[in-house]
Amino acid sequence: MQHRKITFIGAGNMARAIIAGLVAGGYPAKSISVCAPSAKNRDALAADYGIVSSSDNLACAQAADVVVLAVKPQMMADVCQPLRERVDFSGKLVLSIAAGIQVSRFYQLLGDNLSIVRIMPNTPSLVGKGMSGLYAPQQVSQQDRDYSSDLMASVGKVCWVDDENGINGVIAAAGSAPAYFFLFMEAMQQEAERMGFDSQTARNLVQQAASGAAALVEANPDTPLSTLREQVTSKGGTTAEALRVFNEQQLPATVAKAMQAAVSRAQEME
Ligand code: NAD
Repeated sequence: MQHRKITFIGAGNMARAIIAGLVAGGYPAKSISVCAPSAKNRDALAADYGIVSSSDNLACAQAADVVVLAVKPQMMADVCQPLRERVDFSGKLVLSIAAGIQVSRFYQLLGDNLSIVRIMPNTPSLVGKGMSGLYAPQQVSQQDRDYSSDLMASVGKVCWVDDENGINGVIAAAGSAPAYFFLFMEAMQQEAERMGFDSQTARNLVQQAASGAAALVEANPDTPLSTLREQVTSKGGTTAEALRVFNEQQLPATVAKAMQAAVSRAQEME
């Protein structure tokens, strides 16, 4: 991947995850800077990864080739305003990981001729198992697209969407999805405890079953998920009985409704 000068505005969890992935992949630490108002998070990042830490968003954005906007959506206008006045964005690439802020809004905030890519990552990026959706308007160059893909590939897998609305689908299917699985696992752990296992054992049982299932899915990329399910479901057996209850309780329809609710919420935030 190209080693452009990159700055992260915002030193939260997502910035940390991406910086960790970049450095682990051999991106030169001296080409990475991070800016945030409070010294605590950014200095911890500087100490952990040897990158440059600053409180000066403007100076960092001016000096960088790539500006990653990694602040909360509600902070975005305040962060962009001073940049618009003092930074020449021609020749720079801007990446936003904020949910709910559309490209058209960035044109308003930072100027029309911006090369901008929207990225929707998820928290497994923190352990290199992220799934990120990316969207760029047509005028963004192939070089900038490739750079953005490589950046997010340093913390997991990437998927491009052709239409900006597709980002909301990525939110429903991947961005918010870790929490769906956590809820499922929590419910299983609770029931295992009610069956008499101590909390640690109950967690281990569920955790290993979940990561084992995910590993089987990954090891068999061409096998439909329904086939994997059928392979562990003997007719008249225990698994079949559990699945019968899930289906009677409309689990698939509930999952569909929940994902639609995530999309609706993302649309409201736009
Ligand atoms: P966070 O709250 O952990 O971090 C936000 C950072 O922004 C903090 O370091 C804060 O100091 C900094 N900040 C606040 N005001 C600033 C300013 N004026 N100038 C510079 N820095 C400033 O948030 P996070 O979880 O890392 O999320 C960051 C962005 O990533 C959000 O827009 C969020 O929507 C998006 N995102 C997060 C996730 C997730 O799962 N955490 C997933 C996808 C997208």
